[in-house]
Amino acid sequence: MAAQSVIGAPAEEVESFRLRARAWLAEHMPRLPEGVDNYHLMRDDEFGVRARELQRTLYDAGFAGICFPREYGGLGLSREHQQAFSRESAAYEMPVLFNVPTLSILAPTILDFGTEEQKRRHIPAILRGEEMWVQFLSEPSGGSDLAGLVTRATRDGDVFVLNGSKIWSSGAFRSDYALCLARTDWHAPKHRGLTMFIVKIHQPGIEVQQIRMVNGWNEFCQEFFDDVAIPAEDVLGQVNDGWTVASRLLIHERDAVGGASRYTSGLGAAGERSGSATGLDHLARATGRTSDPTVRQLVAEDRVHERVAQQLVRRVTTGIASGYFPPPAGAIPRLFAATANERHRDMALEIVGRGAAAWTEGDPVGEVSVEYLFRQGGSLGGGSNEMQRNIISERVLGMPREYAADKDKPFDEVRHNAAPSRVR
Ligand SMILES: Cc1cc2nc3c(=O)[nH]c(=O)nc-3n(C[C@H](O)[C@H](O)[C@H](O)COP(=O)(O)OP(=O)(O)OC[C@H]3O[C@@H](n4cnc5c(N)ncnc54)[C@H](O)[C@@H]3O)c2cc1C
Repeated sequence: MAAQSVIGAPAEEVESFRLRARAWLAEHMPRLPEGVDNYHLMRDDEFGVRARELQRTLYDAGFAGICFPREYGGLGLSREHQQAFSRESAAYEMPVLFNVPTLSILAPTILDFGTEEQKRRHIPAILRGEEMWVQFLSEPSGGSDLAGLVTRATRDGDVFVLNGSKIWSSGAFRSDYALCLARTDWHAPKHRGLTMFIVKIHQPGIEVQQIRMVNGWNEFCQEFFDDVAIPAEDVLGQVNDGWTVASRLLIHERDAVGGASRYTSGLGAAGERSGSATGLDHLARATGRTSDPTVRQLVAEDRVHERVAQQLVRRVTTGIASGYFPPPAGAIPRLFAATANERHRDMALEIVGRGAAAWTEGDPVGEVSVEYLFRQGGSLGGGSNEMQRNIISERVLGMPREYAADKDKPFDEVRHNAAPSRVR
């Protein structure tokens, strides 16, 4: 039986959609060079110019926003359609810069909480590749205790006036809009005095500084807000109920970084890595070690992790959809993806051996040690592994919640860090 699209008309069968996508991709999208994946190309596209063009190409051809509702420019199709397209498109250049956080985290949060006007303003523009988004959540005083943030937004007539600072915002310099969580009531307990705002990034009062990372990237940013006027109609959800919005955003984020999001495209199936420059089979060939039993064991272990990741995503997403698991169960594939990624980087280094210590320009194995420097990234972005373990124990397994002395106290009576001053 054909699936139903959101407006009730019978949707195209998955197999027919797959074949149509296959033919269109072969004719219109550039094939990835051997051993290169989209994440490698992404680094050459620092300002996202190519990603915007490719996203527009997908949109014009009717392949953007596969699981987004049709009334906001999407196709209104199922997760199976999205997975079919992701598999077919894995060998092509794709606008993966849009995947996280724009398509998989922030657009779904706008769909969940946005007014009709907000959804019509932003979702089609995102799918056309005109708006890239970023999340302004973490602050210099700490990211795990998100509800303890100190950036403030003070109501002044029709606007809120934003002051403070956010940090570790991935790709803010190239983005157009942010979802920004700020404190709007200092007398309420910490979770109840927050509001989520839609913020235009490039405007007076906002300064974005890129942060030079140890692996040479400039992806992270810190932002400083000096009396930024945000129109009251740009509140997402309700004033002082930003924690509800943030909690849902974090569920979308765990799905996104764990490989379980239905809103991405062009990644291959969840957890797939083989064939890319850092796929272990590729490294075994590049180092001439395909017959080495230890290396073969490592390649096999990596493959097993890929398979487990795919099955875990399937199991957990099906379980959440059927109500068997609560939505925070997305922390399970997220935790697995992060720990498997750490192991993958360790194994890559082991295969390359001395080649990772010194290499010549263009040597494919040299990449491994640069990537190793980012080994912990996946275990922090989207909430640290320890926080995922807390979520699994408290909200999936129902174990007692961690004690928090400040939970019900008015925030202005809680000892906390001051808003940071600017570093120049
Ligand atoms: C690749 C990457 C991308 C990111 N992108 C963004 C972004 O776009 N926007 C954004 O706002 N932020 C982003 N972040 C920031 C990220 O959300 C934070 O790094 C993360 O939430 C942890 O916060 P922190 O770094 O301040 O560490 P802290 O909160 O200071 O934590 C330090 C250590 O203490 C542990 N810890 C803290 N509290 C507990 C607890 N209750 N129980 C057990 N252990 C605990 C943590 O696990 C961690 O190991 C990104 C980070 C990375 C690495």
